[in-house]
Amino acid sequence: MVYEEIFSTYTNKKIKGRHITNETVEPILEHLNSDFKVKIEGKSVLEKPIYSVQFGHGKTKIYMWSQMHGDESTSTKAILDLFEVLSKDKVYATFIQSTYTLYIIPLVNPDGAEVHTRENINKVDLNRDVNECTQPESKILKQIFENFQPEYCLNMHDQRTIYGIGETNKSAIISFLAPAYNKNREINQYRSKAMHIIGKINNVLQNYIPGHVGMYNDAYCDNCFGDYFASKNAVTILFEAGHYPNDYTRDITRKYVFIGLLVVFDIIHENDIVDDNNSEYFIIPDNKVSFFDILYKNVKIIDNGNEKIINFATQYNEVVKNGIIVFEPYMVIIENDIQNYFGHIEYDLEGELFYSNYCSIPENGVKSDFFIGKNNEFIDGILKTQ
Ligand SMILES: [Zn+2]
Repeated sequence: MVYEEIFSTYTNKKIKGRHITNETVEPILEHLNSDFKVKIEGKSVLEKPIYSVQFGHGKTKIYMWSQMHGDESTSTKAILDLFEVLSKDKVYATFIQSTYTLYIIPLVNPDGAEVHTRENINKVDLNRDVNECTQPESKILKQIFENFQPEYCLNMHDQRTIYGIGETNKSAIISFLAPAYNKNREINQYRSKAMHIIGKINNVLQNYIPGHVGMYNDAYCDNCFGDYFASKNAVTILFEAGHYPNDYTRDITRKYVFIGLLVVFDIIHENDIVDDNNSEYFIIPDNKVSFFDILYKNVKIIDNGNEKIINFATQYNEVVKNGIIVFEPYMVIIENDIQNYFGHIEYDLEGELFYSNYCSIPENGVKSDFFIGKNNEFIDGILKTQ
């Protein structure tokens, strides 16, 4: 498996975790060699620089950007890994340079990254701002597209831990989409090409994470960047890095994003020769909201004097504290039947009784410290081993 070897050889081991900011990216950009053209494209609302990196002089132009949502940093790490490969593997660098011109914004939303929010510091979701372009970050993202006129766009995001694959109990480790370019979600030659590439990425990733690759919802969003660029006839691919079991820092998922990028470069190159075929795209199962971080099944409660058996969950709230992301566990009541729901961790409590110092029955938003039965103490949602 060549792709995995490339990753383990070149991944930047100093870069890890979820809190990836300009301070993470800047030292790497400073030390890139002269094959890379690093530029400050403008400033964020809080006057932080927004960098671009150009690489190569080939005829195929690829525009890619990461972390327009400040708390979605997995692909940024994969892009920094890509810079390592392009810096150190001369043969691969020459292939990319002669085939492609890459225009990369590793971190579109540095203010949001700093405080770990999806939105920018003005609380605007940049991915709902392509038409008005009210924010400096959106303006930069759109302006580069207009000037560069890429043939391909790679729109790189993270998805939450709540997504699973179809009806299965497999988490969505990574998902893709060839976004719609109109309301009817028609397929033109550009979208078909994106589908073709995604089908090929999926074929490769099935070797590593079988059953864990999903398709993102393709409802047309006329104020979203990917859909907008697709409507301008750019072949656009959405990457959604997701949850690998127990990998809350997403340093494992990062590898699959990275491999996805390498496959894109291989397939576009080969695609000059082979015919377009998008059938492999349609075998990728849809994403579904089907996961909780931690699921507790068959828990007895006494609600207004009545005994009941319920299921409830713990979800993590991600907040920045002293420069690191902390995962704060809180309880979530589940109203629905849980037949088609799963937990990344699951406990079957077999009808034992819930009690807690904070509440008499599980309550939404309360910290996940409780007992179930005599001997089962849960701290931060996890069963304490005796
Ligand atoms: Zn996103």
